[in-house]
Amino acid sequence: MTGRFHRFRVGDLECTALDDGTYHYRAERYVANAAADELAAALASHGLDGASIPSPYTCLLVETGGRRVLLDTGGAGWDPGVGRLRDSLATAGVAPDEIDVVVLTHGHPDHIGGNTGDDGLPVYRNATHVMTRAEWAFWTDPAVLARMPEAFACIATRNLPPLRDRLDLVEGDAQIAPGIRLLPTPGHTPGHVAVVLESDGVELLYISDAALHPMHLEHPAWHPVFDIDPVAAIASKRMLCERAVANSSLVLAFHFDPFPSLGHIVRRGSAWAWEPGA
Ligand SMILES: [Zn+2]
Repeated sequence: MTGRFHRFRVGDLECTALDDGTYHYRAERYVANAAADELAAALASHGLDGASIPSPYTCLLVETGGRRVLLDTGGAGWDPGVGRLRDSLATAGVAPDEIDVVVLTHGHPDHIGGNTGDDGLPVYRNATHVMTRAEWAFWTDPAVLARMPEAFACIATRNLPPLRDRLDLVEGDAQIAPGIRLLPTPGHTPGHVAVVLESDGVELLYISDAALHPMHLEHPAWHPVFDIDPVAAIASKRMLCERAVANSSLVLAFHFDPFPSLGHIVRRGSAWAWEPGA
């Protein structure tokens, strides 16, 4: 299987967007709280069939100060259409052993699924794995896992406990490496973080799942069924949108089609819109 990658720079930071594959979601999973006619109009405006919204999983590799930092590990084990991150890394010429730090923005299957291989052992065995304390506590709590969909609980159980020996639990605003800092954006999950890259006055916002589709920018009150605390999630999304506009940030939106999921968030009336492109 051939992987796909896209190299670009953020100031002095060498960045590589990595394709993990594409999954498809039903519109009612993506937008839990829209009036049917408004959702139909929004889907039509994007040329989408509500039965199947394409959703790439786009991870990011950042090289800074001689260290390789990988943001999220994709959705291996979730669906046959995804789980290609290692192929994409190989195509980009990077071996798993060369990764120094893995940042897990949250504990959903599409962001942690590639932590371990078929043997159940960590894939990035030389890497320190960073997760917020709140997120780790949530996804390793048996009472939480018992009320999660079975696939979510299975993938968390398979992909988090094996990291114990190489884990760095941090607060939501932790500095990870030169030019790489976490930004707390709770709501989608309790300890969900975005990641801010900053170099030479240029900023990239890796928003992870603060928005899953441009429709979530155009209709800020809309949220997916996956948001555990929708009120907090919408506040986090608004904060990120304001920041992206104020700083003219380049944005990597993990689930925005097409790969490499790069673009800018622009103001549109009292809401926002997505302008794809680097
Ligand atoms: Zn996701």
